[in-house]
Amino acid sequence: MFKIQLKNSKSFICSEDQTIFEAAKIAGLILEHSCLSARCKSCLAKVVEGKTIEIGEDLVLSSSDKQEGYILTCNTKPLSHVILNIEDIDNVDLSHPKTIPSKIDVLEFVSKDVVKLVLRTPPNSYIDFLSGQYVNIIMGSIKRSYSLAAARRNDHKLEFFIKNYKGGVMSNYLFESAKINDVLRLEGALGTFFYRHKKSKNIVFLATGTGIAPVKSILDHFDGNPELVSNKNIWVLWGARYEEELFWAPKYQNIKLHFIPVLSRTNPNWKGAKGYVQNVLQEHEIDLSDAQVYACGCNDMINSAFKLLAEKGLPEHQFYSDAFVSSN
Ligand SMILES: Cc1cc2nc3c(=O)[nH]c(=O)nc-3n(C[C@H](O)[C@H](O)[C@H](O)COP(=O)(O)OP(=O)(O)OC[C@H]3O[C@@H](n4cnc5c(N)ncnc54)[C@H](O)[C@@H]3O)c2cc1C
Repeated sequence: MFKIQLKNSKSFICSEDQTIFEAAKIAGLILEHSCLSARCKSCLAKVVEGKTIEIGEDLVLSSSDKQEGYILTCNTKPLSHVILNIEDIDNVDLSHPKTIPSKIDVLEFVSKDVVKLVLRTPPNSYIDFLSGQYVNIIMGSIKRSYSLAAARRNDHKLEFFIKNYKGGVMSNYLFESAKINDVLRLEGALGTFFYRHKKSKNIVFLATGTGIAPVKSILDHFDGNPELVSNKNIWVLWGARYEEELFWAPKYQNIKLHFIPVLSRTNPNWKGAKGYVQNVLQEHEIDLSDAQVYACGCNDMINSAFKLLAEKGLPEHQFYSDAFVSSN
């Protein structure tokens, strides 16, 4: 049995057969996480002292990350007492994930490659979630993760934006054969991508493609609770390749935000920002030392943004991410 100590001096016991993430959970401490399958970096931590070993191959840490002492808590066991540079998530009421049935209520094609899916849950059951979290949608033996794309509502409906992938089992079903009232099961809510109420003056959202879904959910929540973000500057940078892929635009009554769509491919008539969201962010003079950044969508953007923004003064622990990695 080894002692794992966090930056805020909290500690827990982890056996040599447990991952650090699992042991923390058993001890009642929630660590940042998302996929829990070593495919994203949401559960990244730095080993300050001690020895650890990976339980399986991870697909995201570079050899220099590893040399610098970074680990994924979902994929790492201790070999000694360990001190980590992370804190647990405190003061957040996360409900236990549950599995419930749902029926397709709306299928609306919002662009060539993205469908807005609304699922209706039975009157006596509902998935309780924090804006920004995701659920697993289950069809027979197929299970895929999708972020909720709206704040909690009272009509038992849950909204998603889902991209069509070539040869993708779930997305092709939704695009080609799904019908209103088809039954799908839901498991959740999952993940720790949600807004943290802190002192930071600037709140920056970086999204690519359907990565705008959890961002929209959080913004919807702000719009219903504007006191959460009074006196804060909110930036939303949303990346797509072409203009016709921008399937959403913010229309909020109670909050103000700087919305910057960014296109990465040549669009002859486009007068807006060009390139990648993380680079465009740097063109704006945002004090990153007083910012929280929430990044969601493709892994490359998230990894590049994390490196770039940390170099420009963003404290590492103020960067939150949810990578839409393949969930099969
Ligand atoms: C936490 C989380 C939240 C997510 N939220 C959303 C969301 O809100 N909206 C959304 O559209 N997607 C989201 N995804 C991705 C989603 O879970 C599926 O991976 C995606 O819908 C493809 O599933 P599929 O069954 O259609 O394709 P599969 O049958 O799983 O795969 C078909 C092919 O597509 C490739 N592929 C599958 N998924 C991806 C991917 N994400 N990136 C690149 N290539 C891929 C596979 O490698 C394979 O070649 C999320 C993923 C995670 C981990």
